[in-house]
Amino acid sequence: MIRKPSEKEEEYFVRMEFEKKKKEEEEKQKKLAEAEKKRLQELHHMKCPKCGMELIEIDYKAIKVDKCSGCEGVWLDAGELETVSKFEKSGLDKLFSVFAK
Ligand SMILES: [Zn+2]
Repeated sequence: MIRKPSEKEEEYFVRMEFEKKKKEEEEKQKKLAEAEKKRLQELHHMKCPKCGMELIEIDYKAIKVDKCSGCEGVWLDAGELETVSKFEKSGLDKLFSVFAK
């Protein structure tokens, strides 16, 4: 014999169904956000944060300096500013002459 679900039960199932779909939707949003983050990373990798042109990586002593091919801005990676700050003055002068126009 098939018992007709009570209204309370029906309410419960509808709510469960909603929660399930909501969770799926949240999962989808999360994946989208991750995909978007990845897309942006790929899009901006080695691009100048100011003008968007290609960055050219130059090795100088312990640091890798990224110089923009467009605006000639010079960018340092995390921690490299500290490294530069420990350079002797002669090393600093050389660094500046390397990146001078
Ligand atoms: Zn630039």
